[in-house]
Amino acid sequence: MSGKDFYKVLGVEKSASQDDVKRAFRKLAHEHHPDKGGKEEKFKEINEAYQVLGDEQKRKQYDQFGSAAFDGSGGGNPFGGGNPFGGAGGFDFSGAGFEDLGDILGGMFGGGGRQQREPKGEDLEVGIRLKFSEAVFGVEKEIPLTKHSKCPRCAGTAAEPGTKMKSCATCDGKGFRVTMQRTMLGAMQMKTACAECHGRGEKPEKDCTECHGKGAVHGRTTVRVDIPAGVDDCMSVRVRGEGESIGAQGEPGDLYLRLRVEPDARFTRDGFTIYVTKNIGFTQAALGDTIDVDTVDGKVEVKIPQGTQSGDELRLRGKGVPNNRGRGDQIVIVKVITPTKLDKRMQELLKEMNLREK
Ligand SMILES: [Zn+2]
Ligand SMILES: [Zn+2]
Repeated sequence: MSGKDFYKVLGVEKSASQDDVKRAFRKLAHEHHPDKGGKEEKFKEINEAYQVLGDEQKRKQYDQFGSAAFDGSGGGNPFGGGNPFGGAGGFDFSGAGFEDLGDILGGMFGGGGRQQREPKGEDLEVGIRLKFSEAVFGVEKEIPLTKHSKCPRCAGTAAEPGTKMKSCATCDGKGFRVTMQRTMLGAMQMKTACAECHGRGEKPEKDCTECHGKGAVHGRTTVRVDIPAGVDDCMSVRVRGEGESIGAQGEPGDLYLRLRVEPDARFTRDGFTIYVTKNIGFTQAALGDTIDVDTVDGKVEVKIPQGTQSGDELRLRGKGVPNNRGRGDQIVIVKVITPTKLDKRMQELLKEMNLREK
């Protein structure tokens, strides 16, 4: 799978402890901090890697899906660009970005403020049910939603097609106004977005007749989403830009899919490993046999070795759940069933064998 190797960025082994990851990050962040002459690009990269590896849950998801799962920008990753998630989106579990840097480094460098966020539409959340095999192999879903979407007539610009934009008179085209506010720390200059043009600095000469100058329309729509292979019950998938649209006023919100995976009577799953239990007879266990076993790829033949004990586990390599290192395994747990109905001849034969543990 493509994408950045966050472990390499931080210079730690895949097996490194959370403490090791934190130590490596602190050391590198000091070395490459832009205030100390470091390159911002490099610093950003280090931060990006730590946002993921520094969080145990995100690190687990990264190990499974690679950096694609965390790259919302869309370039050159399997979930962005072209892109199975539709719209402007990539696929992102994290929500954490560069703007959180101030929080992380605040204590270290005594500062690093938070940027004022652009106005953004509301996030939406829907529950999605997946079959066991859909979670294993991934699936494309069409999700019906009633929400505000970008106006198709004006493409979200709020201007009637064919008309121009004009400079906003209220803010002189600056998009903001400056006010002085008294705070505990003294007088501070505050920039506020111009309410007339919503911070754009320009307004349509004529409002779009479809959305009445909002840039967004409310209605039913369908969002097509590719759920990637290997997702699991209770995971949440973020689809960028498919939440509520606020048209020309700012970015749309995101859509969160809460995944529920239906159980399958044949399989249970723990991470990338799939488990099945197979009952075999007493003779099969003692002498060995070949049996049919269900896998997510269909039935396969499995050899039961001579002298198999109840509870023995047989490993089927590569028959488990896909992840960014290939596929997990399937484990067959063998249960030996002791016969309960024996006819006379069988009873005699068993007595003759006299199989006793010493
Ligand atoms: Zn419109
Ligand atoms: Zn304005």
